[in-house]
Amino acid sequence: MTITRMKTKVLIMSLLMGTMALILAGSVRAQPFEFHVEHDHRLGHCRGTLVIGPETIQYRTPHRKHERIWRYTDIKRIEIRSPRIIHIVTYESRGKLWSANRRFEFKLRDEDITAAVSDFLLRRVTRPLVLSVLPTIERQPTFVIPAKHRHRRGGCEGVLKVYPDALVFASQNPKHTRYWRYQDIQQIGRLGPYQFEVATYEHQVGGPDRVFHFELKERLDDPIYDYLWVRVNRTKYYPYEPEQPVRATPTSGVVRLSTRRRVSRR
Ligand SMILES: [Zn+2]
Ligand SMILES: [Zn+2]
Repeated sequence: MTITRMKTKVLIMSLLMGTMALILAGSVRAQPFEFHVEHDHRLGHCRGTLVIGPETIQYRTPHRKHERIWRYTDIKRIEIRSPRIIHIVTYESRGKLWSANRRFEFKLRDEDITAAVSDFLLRRVTRPLVLSVLPTIERQPTFVIPAKHRHRRGGCEGVLKVYPDALVFASQNPKHTRYWRYQDIQQIGRLGPYQFEVATYEHQVGGPDRVFHFELKERLDDPIYDYLWVRVNRTKYYPYEPEQPVRATPTSGVVRLSTRRRVSRR
């Protein structure tokens, strides 16, 4: 009797908790993100509110000519260029004389873009994203390689982190931090074990899409490169499970890699 009553209590409690979790999840999903922004006009700007919602992104402004509502399918690319800069690349033509797509550049006036916004965009957007604000990452990276990002002049230092579903460059310069799902990468390449490149879909003024060149401070051995390659180039010839950490191959590299994984967990 007592056991039955306890079982009923547990059942009711778990039902209640489940319902609450559903309500909470629903309210989180429905909550749009709102930011006070400046829309950059090159010469001057207009001000308004950028609303990132579940179905659309809206720019509300008293400057009526620049008011917009975009469905996600109307947006070619969302670029979080820094914690305060967000670009929306649309399919709208820049004008009668231009073939290029119109880009709306917004600067956040009083708060930073948060990990929650990145989490939301990663769930919502299937097209390539540019993300300099890291989302919530719960797992440990499979591999960690300290690296310098080479610029045309100088560079910035940081760490490349390889996850089963993403590649991260965590830079000391927040503008150059990137979170790439493997679908956000066009191709990877390397010149020997200390030079690594990531070709992205990110726009570059007056040039082809942006390529990140890295000088590696530790070797990028074949098993790590393979691990990345099969994720960027999904082919039937390289079947893998997304959660599979690394294929056990009888090379000395695997021993080194497992040591490195332990180091990265500290
Ligand atoms: Zn404007
Ligand atoms: Zn950099």
